[in-house]
Amino acid sequence: MSGKSKINTIEYLRVAITAACNFFCLYCREKTEKYLLENYINISVLRNVVKVFAQYGLKTVRIAGGEPLLVPHLEKYIEAISPLVEEVALTTNGYFLEEKAEKLKKAGACFGVSAGYERPLWFALNNKKPEFKYNYNYQNWYPAVEFETKNARKNVGLFDLTAFSKYDLKGQKTHSELQKICTANIKDEIGKTTYTQMLNEDGGIEAD
Ligand code: SF4
Repeated sequence: MSGKSKINTIEYLRVAITAACNFFCLYCREKTEKYLLENYINISVLRNVVKVFAQYGLKTVRIAGGEPLLVPHLEKYIEAISPLVEEVALTTNGYFLEEKAEKLKKAGACFGVSAGYERPLWFALNNKKPEFKYNYNYQNWYPAVEFETKNARKNVGLFDLTAFSKYDLKGQKTHSELQKICTANIKDEIGKTTYTQMLNEDGGIEAD
């Protein structure tokens, strides 16, 4: 063995800055479990960790929890690490988004509305201004979304689909009938999901 050790590139880092959450989702935690908000990472610790990983090629930091919006001054965490990486993303249950949106916006989030839910759509790369510049050609948000898409393919991604409609379909032919309008081969197993487009008779997209 040579004396030189090889260090792999680490492009994606997900940090749970607190275990505390205002929700008790069944698959996540018991009502009796206690997670104290006093326990959260402080800004300088996060910044130092990101600084170290940045030396090994870190590009994206995803701040998660628990519920990160419970942590006081979350925008200051984002401001502290934004200059060190290309993208800072956030996983949140969205409950406090309304009151904290303005501060997040200042930290680089570009928002959109889906089914009445306002939510961050993408975070600007390299401290660029987070805004849509509408165009019939190349969209200004492509590089930011391309970055996140590739990152999700190479690593692990968590998608917040809270704003999507939910339907409970029952019946013997549910699967076969659904398959007729879905472009992907949808799963017929409990506990599995399939991301797919749903088309109309002309092949146009009606929903996903
Ligand atoms: S919102 Fe997220 S962190 Fe909070 S209980 Fe639900 S799954 Fe867990």
